[in-house]
Amino acid sequence: MEGFSDLLPMAKVLVIGAGVMGLAAAWQSLRDGHQVDLIEAAPEPGGMAAHFDFDGDSIERFYHFVCKTDFPTFELLRELGLEDRLRWRPTSMGFYTDGRLHPWGNPVALLRLPNAPLLSKLRYGLLAFVSTRRNSWAELENVSAKDWIIRWCGEDAYRRFWKTLLEFKFYEHADNISAAWIWTRIRRIGRSRSSIMQEELGYIDGGSQTLIDALVQAIEQQGGRIHLGSPVQFVTTKDNGVTGAETTSRHFAADHVISTSPTPYVADMIPDLPEDWKARYRSIQNIGVICVIFKLRRPVTEHFWVNVCIPDLTIPGVVELTNLRKEIGSSIVYIPYYMPTTNEKFFWPDEHLVAEGFGCLLRLNPNLAASDILATRVARLRHGQPVCEPGFASKIPPVQTPIRGLQVADTCFYYPEDRGIAESVRLGRSMAHNIPRPAHAAAPTPHVESAV
Ligand SMILES: Cc1cc2nc3c(=O)[nH]c(=O)nc-3n(C[C@H](O)[C@H](O)[C@H](O)COP(=O)(O)OP(=O)(O)OC[C@H]3O[C@@H](n4cnc5c(N)ncnc54)[C@H](O)[C@@H]3O)c2cc1C
Repeated sequence: MEGFSDLLPMAKVLVIGAGVMGLAAAWQSLRDGHQVDLIEAAPEPGGMAAHFDFDGDSIERFYHFVCKTDFPTFELLRELGLEDRLRWRPTSMGFYTDGRLHPWGNPVALLRLPNAPLLSKLRYGLLAFVSTRRNSWAELENVSAKDWIIRWCGEDAYRRFWKTLLEFKFYEHADNISAAWIWTRIRRIGRSRSSIMQEELGYIDGGSQTLIDALVQAIEQQGGRIHLGSPVQFVTTKDNGVTGAETTSRHFAADHVISTSPTPYVADMIPDLPEDWKARYRSIQNIGVICVIFKLRRPVTEHFWVNVCIPDLTIPGVVELTNLRKEIGSSIVYIPYYMPTTNEKFFWPDEHLVAEGFGCLLRLNPNLAASDILATRVARLRHGQPVCEPGFASKIPPVQTPIRGLQVADTCFYYPEDRGIAESVRLGRSMAHNIPRPAHAAAPTPHVESAV
């Protein structure tokens, strides 16, 4: 055993980014017996899942829920002793169309929706049902979501139920989104039910911050060092092997580097990558997201989410977090605006977005009044969602770069799954597992699949 330990000494691992992927990679690297430094550009850990103080309530800048198939999250919560902090609740959907709010998201609601042909409704329901049961995606990989949905549901159902959702999220990319990607989204939600009639979603008591705090604490207790407010300027290499990373204040030496920074930053951050690799990272496009968040005296609707089809508003839906997390006293509502950051609306002043967003809430509930608003906040993210076109799988570079010891991934690397905490946890841990473990380390964590 001694001799084996000499052959595989403890490695110095540097993780870039303290979102859940980076935190999971750091935690797993420590469990595997390595030394870890975790470097985060922002002043707080958590990335997309980070919280802020919203008028006395700690909530996510971007709404989060848990689904029943989020197994990597469940396993991590168990490991951190947090399994009893996971809560499940029956939730419902609404659909605002033709000037009225309708129940949505179950077969009866679908059949009762007025003004839509029965055939369109049946075909829409069939697509949802079959997608939830389907497991393979090879035939969907080179097809656009638009073509796939029209093939299953017809033009009428596409126009009524899908078109605005895709267009108000992806704009000029709307007709060129992968069917495989849309399918995993339908499946994830479709499988989070207690029965065919009842959706059931989960949340972590205290929000994502509970998981982030526990990971930070576990990492620090195991001797890992977390450096916040330290953007990595560039990754350093020698003889085609990674040697560490440079921040504005110092150089961090490392044998292995795991980058979880969004791909649009990667080519500039790693100047020694071959040009064809840089081109691959640069070719992956992202859209931005803005969440306009309201704290209100009373609920807007009874639903967790409402799909919105209002032609004069570019709003695809509304998420009422407090219809899931009821322990928060006031009503917390998110209006997510997704759009390419070339869209002038991405730079609208906060007050314009708040005014438009409240106009949308008034359509859903005309009894609301401006005096119901207790607080508002606008959160923006430049790289909020990768744009996954048909054939996207072949665009994703391998996690292991041609530079020895350097792994790179972000949320698009687990395509066709959409961005999600569970998938980021799974991939972060899998990147840590790719580092040879010293002989003295604990047994590897089971159930962690390998990276793409
Ligand atoms: C609007 C919205 C809603 C969502 N809803 C859900 C949901 O309901 N359920 C769910 O499971 N998931 C949801 N997600 C997705 C989930 O938040 C993400 O999948 C997950 O948080 C991604 O974590 P990550 O670590 O992979 O990436 P990120 O969170 O993006 O982390 C990357 C980190 O790298 C840091 N970084 C970047 N460049 C550098 C640098 N040069 N040096 C150092 N650090 C750097 C960034 O600051 C960031 O903290 C949602 C996301 C959004 C935007």
